[in-house]
Amino acid sequence: MLLWVVGAAIGILTAFVLIFKYTKTGKNDMIGYSAKCNKCGTVTNGVKCPKCTTNTKDWR
Ligand SMILES: [Zn+2]
Repeated sequence: MLLWVVGAAIGILTAFVLIFKYTKTGKNDMIGYSAKCNKCGTVTNGVKCPKCTTNTKDWR
């Protein structure tokens, strides 16, 4: 009876660590290098920077 509780706890802990790892690396490394604006550093999620595109209209 206690064994499955420990197993579940380990599973939950592993999932939590994986989610924590994914969210941390996902935001900083996986998306960060391509989704950040080169000029102002705003996170754009792969889209053109709204700040720079609205400020400088002749950016093509
Ligand atoms: Zn920008």
